[in-house]
Amino acid sequence: MILTRQRILIGAGLLVLILVPLLSSAFYITLLNNIGMYALATLGVVLLTGVAGMTSFGQAAFVGLGAYTTAALIGPSVFGLGAMAGAPWLALGLGLLITLFAALVLGLLTLKLSGHYLPLGTIAWGMSLYSLFGTLESLGGHTGIADLPPLRIAGFVLGDGPSMYYLIWGSVLLAALLIHNLLESRMGRAIRALRGGQEMATSMGVNVFHAKMVAFLIAAGLAGVSGWLYAYTQRFVSPAPFNVQSGIDYLFMALLGGITSLWGGLIGSSIVVLLREWLQDLLPMLLGRSGNFESIVFGLLIVVVMQRWPGGLFGAVSTLLARRFNFAPQSQARLPDAGLAVRALPRRERTTPGERVLDVRGVTKRFGGLVANNDMSLQLSAGEILAVIGPNGAGKSTLFNLISGVMTPNGGDVIFRGHRVNGVSPRLLAQSGLSRTFQHVKLLPEMTVLENAALGAHLRGHKGVLASALRLDGEDEGCLLNEARQQLERVGLGDYLARPAGSLALGQQRILEIARALCADPCLLLLDEPAAGLRHKEKEALAELIRKLRDEGVAVLLVEHDMDFVMGLVDRIVVMEFGQKIAEGQPDDIQRNPAVLRAYLGGVDE
Ligand code: ADP
Ligand code: MG
Repeated sequence: MILTRQRILIGAGLLVLILVPLLSSAFYITLLNNIGMYALATLGVVLLTGVAGMTSFGQAAFVGLGAYTTAALIGPSVFGLGAMAGAPWLALGLGLLITLFAALVLGLLTLKLSGHYLPLGTIAWGMSLYSLFGTLESLGGHTGIADLPPLRIAGFVLGDGPSMYYLIWGSVLLAALLIHNLLESRMGRAIRALRGGQEMATSMGVNVFHAKMVAFLIAAGLAGVSGWLYAYTQRFVSPAPFNVQSGIDYLFMALLGGITSLWGGLIGSSIVVLLREWLQDLLPMLLGRSGNFESIVFGLLIVVVMQRWPGGLFGAVSTLLARRFNFAPQSQARLPDAGLAVRALPRRERTTPGERVLDVRGVTKRFGGLVANNDMSLQLSAGEILAVIGPNGAGKSTLFNLISGVMTPNGGDVIFRGHRVNGVSPRLLAQSGLSRTFQHVKLLPEMTVLENAALGAHLRGHKGVLASALRLDGEDEGCLLNEARQQLERVGLGDYLARPAGSLALGQQRILEIARALCADPCLLLLDEPAAGLRHKEKEALAELIRKLRDEGVAVLLVEHDMDFVMGLVDRIVVMEFGQKIAEGQPDDIQRNPAVLRAYLGGVDE
C-alpha cells in the first residue's frame, strides 16, 4: 500500500521532470540545471556526512577538480589537449580518474583523523585545491578557462539549456538510484554502521577504513561528474565557484533538505538554489540597497531548521505525513522474499565438544597507575557458560575489552582457539568466530531490526559496491537477510523485522544485539550484562536461548550483575575484585564462598 503510493509519487515526479523543459522558459531551465548539478554533488554529501558520519567541507573542491580537468581536456589550449573536445566520454573518464585519484590520496591522508580533525582536514585541502585552480597559469589563473566547446554525443550537439537538462537530471536520477541500491545492501550497511561508532562496526567485521574510503570516493566521484556537467553547461570555468564557502553551501543544502536521506539532498539543493535566486532580487528591493542579504537569511534559516527539525525539511515533512495519515513507522527496506528458496549460509567449522576455546593467561592491564586487571586468568570450553561477576569497578569490562580485542594487555596472553590474539583487531576476531554484545546497546536506531541483525552477518556475504549498486547482489543479500530473519525469529523478535531498531524497548534492543551476534555464526559469544533492563519473562527466554546455544557447542562468556539470572544459568563463575580473581567455581560453591560474600557485602554492588 505504502509502496504503491510511493511508486505513484515517483512516477508523477518523473513525468513532471520530463515535461518541465517543454513548458518553462529558458531562465527556469537554467535554474533547474543548476539545481541538478548541485543535487548531484549534494547526494555525495548526504552519503559522506549524513550516512557515514564524516563531515566534509571539501565537496566543492572536488566539483572544481571535475570541472577543471574536463575544461583542461576539452578546452582550446590548455596543455595542448584540446583535441579531446570531440571525446566527452573520454574527458569524463579521465576527469573522474583524476578526481578519484586525488580523493584517494586526500582520503588516505585525512580519513584516519578523528573528531574535529577530519572536518578541519577537509577545509585545509578544500582551500589548497581552490588556490591551485587560481594559481596555475596553465589553468588560466583567476580568469579561468573560457570558450569550451559544447557537448557532442552521437552526433547531437547539447549546446543549450534544455538539451543539457535531460543529461543532468538523468545523471541525478541514475546516481540516486545507484546509491539507494548500495545503501540497502551489505556494503551499504557497513557504511551506515560507521555512525554506530568504530568499535561496533569493527566488532561486526566491518573494515572501517575501507567503508569510509568507499563513501569518500563515491562522494568525490559524484562531485566529479557534477563538475564535468558544469564545464559543458557553462562552457567556462573559473576558481570562484569552488572555494570553501561553496563547500559549506553543499553542507547547508544537505542539512536543510535532510542530511540522512537522498530525498533530503534533492530537496535541499532545490530550495537553496530557488530561494537564493528570489532573495537576491527581493531583498535589495525590500531593503532599498544592494548587498549579500540572502547569506544572512540562509544563516538564520539553517539555525532555525537545525533547532526545530534536525532531520531537515524531508524529515519534518515525512513525520508530519506519517502523523497525518497514521503510518506505522515501517521502513521500506528490503525484506527477504518469503517465496524465494534461499540457501542457508555456510557455517564455520564447528568446535569439538569440550575444546578449549578461550584461554586467558595472566593478563594485566594498567591505566596509568591504576591496575584494572592484575594477572587475570580464566579458561572457557566449547559448550560451556561462564559468568564473570564482581562489584562495580572490579575490572570486568576491562577484561571483556582485552578478550574482544578492543584493548591490548600490558602483560599476559589471550589465546583464542589456540592462537595468541593480543592486540588482534576486533574485525579479525569476528572473522575467527568471536561475537559480542555491548553493555551500552550499540544499534543503528533508524535502521530496521532486520538490517541491524544482518550487519552481524557482514563477513558471511561477499558482494561489493558495484554489484550492490547494480542490484546484482540478489542471491547474496537474500541469504544474509534470511539468516538475519531466522536469528531474529529464534530470539523472539520475528514480529519486528521492519521496525526501526530505535523503536524497540531497551530489553528488546539487547536481544536484538544477541541476534546480531548470532548472525556471525560465533563459536565464542561475549555478552556484557545481557539481562540488564529485561523483564522476568524476557530473562527466562534469554536464559533458555543461552542454554540452547551452549547445547549447540557455543562457548558463552557473560558479565552480569543479576545474581538470580547468573546462578540458575551458568556452569562456572569467576569472581573479580580490584582487578583480581578472588574465587572461581560452580554457582553453589561461589554462593557460600567467604571471600565472595565479603566482597559483595563489604563493597557496594551496582
Ligand atoms: P567493571 O566493569 O567491573 O565495573 P571496569 O573494568 O569498567 O570495571 O573498571 C575497572 C577500573 O579501571 C575502574 O577503576 C575504572 O575506573 C578503570 N578504568 C576502566 N576503563 C578505563 C580507561 N579506559 N581509562 C582509565 N581507567 C579505566
Ligand atoms: Mg562494566
